[in-house]
Amino acid sequence: MTEKTHSTKYEFKAEVKKLLDILVHSLYTSREIFLRELISNASDALDKIRFESNKGTDIADNDLQLEIKIEFDDKKKILTITDTGIGMTRDEVITNIGTIAKSGTEEFVKLVSEAKDYANNIIGRFGVGFYSVFMVAKEVIIRTKSFKKDEPAIEWKSDGLGDYEISELSDKIKRGTQIEILLKDDASEFAEKWRLEQTIKKHSSFISFPIFIGKEKINTISAIWREPKSSVTKEKYTEFYKFLTYDNNEPMDIIHKSVDAPIQFNALLFIPSKSFEYFWMDRENYGLDLYVRRVLIQHKNKDLLPEYLSFVKGVVDSEDLPLNISRETLQENVVFSKISSSVTSTVLSHLTDKAKNDKDGYEKFWKEHNRVFKLGYSDFINHEKYSELLRFNSSTCNDKDELISLADYVTRFKEDQKEIFYLSGPNRDSILSDPHLEIFKKKGLEVLFMFDPIDEFVVSSIRKYKDYEFKSVLNADLKKLEKIKDSQVADNKVDELSRDDEKHLSSLLSKMKLILGDKVVEVRLSKRLVDSPSCLVSEGDEMSAAMQKILKMANQNVETQKRIMEINQNHSLIRNLLKVYKTNVDDEFIQQVTEQLYESSLLQEGNLEDPHELVKRINVMLEKSSDWYCKVKNIS
Ligand code: ADP
Ligand code: MG
Repeated sequence: MTEKTHSTKYEFKAEVKKLLDILVHSLYTSREIFLRELISNASDALDKIRFESNKGTDIADNDLQLEIKIEFDDKKKILTITDTGIGMTRDEVITNIGTIAKSGTEEFVKLVSEAKDYANNIIGRFGVGFYSVFMVAKEVIIRTKSFKKDEPAIEWKSDGLGDYEISELSDKIKRGTQIEILLKDDASEFAEKWRLEQTIKKHSSFISFPIFIGKEKINTISAIWREPKSSVTKEKYTEFYKFLTYDNNEPMDIIHKSVDAPIQFNALLFIPSKSFEYFWMDRENYGLDLYVRRVLIQHKNKDLLPEYLSFVKGVVDSEDLPLNISRETLQENVVFSKISSSVTSTVLSHLTDKAKNDKDGYEKFWKEHNRVFKLGYSDFINHEKYSELLRFNSSTCNDKDELISLADYVTRFKEDQKEIFYLSGPNRDSILSDPHLEIFKKKGLEVLFMFDPIDEFVVSSIRKYKDYEFKSVLNADLKKLEKIKDSQVADNKVDELSRDDEKHLSSLLSKMKLILGDKVVEVRLSKRLVDSPSCLVSEGDEMSAAMQKILKMANQNVETQKRIMEINQNHSLIRNLLKVYKTNVDDEFIQQVTEQLYESSLLQEGNLEDPHELVKRINVMLEKSSDWYCKVKNIS
C-alpha cells in the first residue's frame, strides 16, 4: 500500500455533477468510448512531455519510454491505463479534473440532454472526455506525478457521485499518470483482453504512441499522410478521418497532398459531409493538427487555414520547421506562413475543380458549408477564387434550392447592363412579391436573391465581380434601367391620362403627402412599378431591411431613413382614387387608402411596428366592401 497524507475532500462543481448524471444515465449504448477518451488523454500527455523535452526543459524521469500501458484483472474487475506523459501537480488535478473549465460546456450539457445521439460523437470535441469513465466505473483512482521535479505525486479518488478526495502520495512513483478503474458489475467485459483489444483497434489505432496490453503492442500505427497516395485505401482514409474528428459519417472529400518545393510538407485534409456548426456554438473548436517530422506540435492550429475554411479537418506535417518551435512564434515563422498559404490554395483549388467537374457535389458542399465559407469576403489575396466559388439563388432559378454562380449571372447580362443586381428578403416568396422587383421583371433583368443576412455583407465587401459592381435593387438607377429594352409586353393596356387628369393626379399626390405628413419626404409617380399600386423607396443609398435588422441586433444606431412613397399611376386603385378625388377632394376614402398603402409597404418590408391601426382600417374597408358585394350580388 502507498502511504497517503493531507487527504482532502472536494465537491464537484454543479456543471460536472450534471454532466456525470447525463453520462451515467443516458449513454448506455456507447460506453466503450470511455477507453478512447482515456487513451486520447494519455496520448495528449505524451505529446506534451515530448514537446517539453524537445525544448530542452529539465524533466523528471527523462529516460522513460513514451508509451501507454493497459493492464486488467478480470477477477477483481479492475482496469488500469498508465502513461509516461507529463503528469499533473495537485493544482492541475483540481483544475483539470474537478471542474469544467472550457467555455461551451454548458451548451454541451444542454445539447447532450436534448439530443443524446450526438453525445458520444461530440464528447471528445468538448473537452469533457475524462468524465466518460464513470459510465463504466464504480470508483476511479488517479495516481499522477508531474514532470516538474519537486512536485509530489498525487492521488485522486472518486465514485463520480458528488465529491472526490485528493491526497499526496509519499511513495515514489515515476512520472506520468495511472488511471485505475474499478468496473461496474455490468461493465466487467472491459477487464477482458479481447474486448479491450477490439475497442482500441476500433477507436485508437492512429494514436502515435505504442499502446501495450501486457507485453503486446496493440496499435500498429503509421502516419498515413506521409505515405504515397496510391498505397492508402479509402477505408484507411475514412478510418483516420473518424479517428481524427469523432465524426461517424464518411468525409465528403479527401485531399491528400505532398509538396516538395520550395517547402516540404504533407497535408491530409478532409471536408466533412455534415457541418460541425451546431447552431454556431463552439466556434473556437477548429483547426488543423500541425506535425513536424511526424511529431505533433500543435492540436487544432488555427493559422494553417483562414477561418472561412475552418470546416476543413486534417493534419499538416513538414520537414522544414524546427522541432522545438514554440506555438507562440509559429505565426511569425516565414516557412510556416508559406505552408499556410499553400494549404489555403490547395483547398481553394480543390473546391474550384469540384465546382467545375462535379456540379451536384459542389452544391452539396455549398448547402452544408456555405455559412462558414462566406466569411471569406475578407480574404483579399484569394479574392478571385473566392468570388467564383460563391453561389446564390436568383430570379432565373426555378425554385428556392437552385443555385447559380456569378459567372452564370454574367452570361445572362442584358444589352447595356453593367451591374449585378441583388435583393434581400427572408425567403424566395417574399422577395418575389416585393414591388421593387417589378421593373426588373419587366426588363428581364436577373436579380440575385439573398436569404442569408451575411450575403449582403459579402457583396458589399467584395464590391465587384470582374468589372461589374453589385447593386441593390433598392438603389438601382432607374434612368439607366429605362434604357434597357422591355422583355415583357404589358398585357393590359392602360389608357393615357388626359392633361387635365394629370393635373388632378399631381394635386392628389400633394394631398397624400399632406395625409402622411412627416412619415415621408415626398409622394411621387413611380417608374418602377408594374403590378403594385405603390411602394416605399429611400432617397440616396437605401439600406435593406435585412441589413438594418442586423445592425440593430448588433446594437448599432441605425438612422431611420427618409422614405419616399411612389405611386403607380396605371394601377386601377389609383385611377379610382383619382375619380374620387375629382368628385370630392376631402373624401375620407382618400385618407384611408393612403394610410393603408403606406402601412402595407412597411408591413411588406418587415418594418411595421404596430399592426393595430392597419387591422382596424382593413376591417372598416372590408365592412364597406361587403356592403358593395351584397349589392352587386343582389343579396339582401
Ligand atoms: P480534454 O482532454 O479535452 O482536455 P478531458 O476531460 O479528457 O478533456 O481531460 C481534462 C484534462 O485533464 C486534460 O486537459 C488534462 O489537462 C488532464 N488530464 C487528463 N488525463 C490526463 C493524463 N493522462 N495525463 C495528464 N493530464 C491529464
Ligand atoms: Mg480528453
